[in-house]
Amino acid sequence: MDAIQTVLGRLGLNQNLSAIGIGNCNRAGSAGPVSSRSPIDGTILGTLQAASADDVTPVLEAATDAFRRWRVIPAPARGEFVRRVGNRFRELKPDLAAVITWEAGKITQEALGEVQEVIDICDFAAGLSRQLYGLTIASERPLHRLAEQWHPLGPVGVITAFNFPMAVWAWNAALAWVCGDPVIWKPSEKTPLCALACQAVVASVLQEMSDIPPAVSSVIVGMRDVGERLADAAEIPLVSATGSTAMGRAVAQRVAARLGRSLLELGGNNGMIVTPSADLELTLRAIVFSAVGTCGQRCTTLRRLIVHEDLADKVIDRLVPIYDRLPIGNPAQPGTLVGPLIDEAAWHAMEAALQRASAEGATVHGGRRLKENVPQGGTYVQPAIASFPLRGSAATSLPGTPTRSIVHEETFAPILYVQRYRTFDEAIELHNSVPQGLASSIMTTDMREAEAFCSAAGSDCGIVNVNVGPSGAEIGGAFGGEKATGGGRESGSDSWKNYMRRATNTINYSTQLPLAQGIQFDV
Ligand code: NAD
Repeated sequence: MDAIQTVLGRLGLNQNLSAIGIGNCNRAGSAGPVSSRSPIDGTILGTLQAASADDVTPVLEAATDAFRRWRVIPAPARGEFVRRVGNRFRELKPDLAAVITWEAGKITQEALGEVQEVIDICDFAAGLSRQLYGLTIASERPLHRLAEQWHPLGPVGVITAFNFPMAVWAWNAALAWVCGDPVIWKPSEKTPLCALACQAVVASVLQEMSDIPPAVSSVIVGMRDVGERLADAAEIPLVSATGSTAMGRAVAQRVAARLGRSLLELGGNNGMIVTPSADLELTLRAIVFSAVGTCGQRCTTLRRLIVHEDLADKVIDRLVPIYDRLPIGNPAQPGTLVGPLIDEAAWHAMEAALQRASAEGATVHGGRRLKENVPQGGTYVQPAIASFPLRGSAATSLPGTPTRSIVHEETFAPILYVQRYRTFDEAIELHNSVPQGLASSIMTTDMREAEAFCSAAGSDCGIVNVNVGPSGAEIGGAFGGEKATGGGRESGSDSWKNYMRRATNTINYSTQLPLAQGIQFDV
């Protein structure tokens, strides 16, 4: 605990915490107090006066004002700002990772990985700032030029979840900034210090670069009402919201009511198909990292294993002893692989899901609440495997056999449902049968199966992997998913286009006025 207070001190976060940051100006909010409670042992890391929906108005005004100046600063100069932000994250990487570990409960390796993700997206965005290309299109009219330009969009509202308390903001902010948009961030109320640490890093760069309008970066720590105010704000043309599907549904409807744009990154229910030709050793490693990493609290966590019936018992027999010896405990301690759940509510959800899985025919291994050999005051659990018999087998063909509805839901905890299949088509059908469509994978050495999984008739997800688990994406690819995952794409590839508006230009350099489609309209 002393160690984390020292780290917070170095980042300027151990006293006078302010819920609202506009550039390098901080102020308290007007709502009640909110505390940052470490999931490791329940320690209160800091307390601040949260913002209310009313506090959002001056932030919107400052961001709108900043946009007028920011949009005309050349994109490569905006990229220089982002490059410096990334470098500051490089310098502070261990301290920032420690804040993630203490506030979100990630093991040190994964917390360092999250800060690295911030650095990587800043590098990506700095390069991108010289590549915001538009197309030139052949005009059907003589002596005309048809082309498109990409322009800054306006202030972007960013609502984020607790489980990636820095990276998701960075995926949005780094791209939005090079695209010429100010960012207003409403972080999860469960991880306010991670957000304030990021804002402090940005503020230190703003101090060095006086030509940049400080309100390009704002943070507002508050509850749901702050998120709702952002969703309703006409000043914000784009709201990027990451979190549960229920949250996304609520935000999307509010944004749509004012005809704004929303970019949704919502819940996943990610599957892996294991076929008879799979490399078993590789498969086991991929399963364990994807299913128990971050204690099952990644949007891309592996939740559904779909295994060929000939292989299922063997896979489970190999997984069970691995699960039994997982080092579970303090995520700040070297060697720990599974840290705590974020809070008690997460355990109640896990317990209820396992009870339903049992009632629906699953055999459950693990899934106990741990009280010994773990820090007191945290919520530690043994990851669970819930294995269902083959569909249509004697165990499931009895009248009144329950459906496996629990498998269709995302429970944000380390539960791995195992389902068995006979034919490849059945595996794909099972895989695609859930409402969510984020990440997916197939473990196979059969080229035909691999290509079929990646084809139009294969996985219906936004992320489709072969011989790689569903979890742990690189920033260079577009990240996001289909169906109830919301359809948004962030991070790499051409996701930047979400943060700009496209103008199509037709330029006539002739002395005639020919109309498109050959229309004659002579006066
Ligand atoms: P959550 O939905 O409870 O909260 C996310 C954020 O939304 C928080 O900042 C919260 O205050 C805000 N919020 C909640 N209701 C709101 C409303 N009605 N209007 C406006 N804002 C609202 O999610 P969580 O528990 O913090 O995170 C876990 C969830 O996030 C999981 O479902 C996980 O899959 C998902 N997630 C998705 C991705 C992705 O990229 N697809 C990434 C990380 C997490």
